[in-house]
Amino acid sequence: MYELPKLPYDYNALEPFIDETTMTIHHTKHHQAYIDNANKALMGTDFENIDVEQVLRKIDIIPQEIRTVIRNNAGGHYNHSLFWKMMGVGKGGSPTSELAYLINKKFGSFDKFTEQFNAAAMSRFGSGWAWLVVDSNGLSITSTANQDSPISDNQIPLLGVDVWEHAYYLKYQNKRAEYLKNWWNLVNWDFVESRFSEIR
Ligand code: MN
Repeated sequence: MYELPKLPYDYNALEPFIDETTMTIHHTKHHQAYIDNANKALMGTDFENIDVEQVLRKIDIIPQEIRTVIRNNAGGHYNHSLFWKMMGVGKGGSPTSELAYLINKKFGSFDKFTEQFNAAAMSRFGSGWAWLVVDSNGLSITSTANQDSPISDNQIPLLGVDVWEHAYYLKYQNKRAEYLKNWWNLVNWDFVESRFSEIR
């Protein structure tokens, strides 16, 4: 059974870029609802004590009658658990390690990388996420609909941004571009780089 992870900072810690009310509702209501719905569907199945990442990697073996519920809600739990750690207080800037080198090599420069990442986030129609992932081809930028997770496509998410309206609407209304521009001030490259070195 999944449990809501504690945020690694206070609800108001990401101000002024993400407001306290948005963070509180996002964590205690949206993330909690994904957990409750996933737990309800998994209860009594062979998967109830399996790690969420393993469940999503093997989404095709989840019984067909609960697969969509699990894709959406276990996906929501996994994506949000990462998202909270991908942000932090006094963060932003750019990576410094081998990842910086690989981003420059793949995308041309850090600025070109953020431009492409923002374009993926802006062109995701409706609800979803934009991601920097690593797979057998190295680094890529991608986006997913709803709560689909790159982990179900054999990709490891390094960095992701939630572009559901619930992530920004109270402060930014329809201005997704402004939310994205401010969000870069929160990116926890220490966490992203530590994920990257773990999988290397
Ligand atoms: Mn969300």
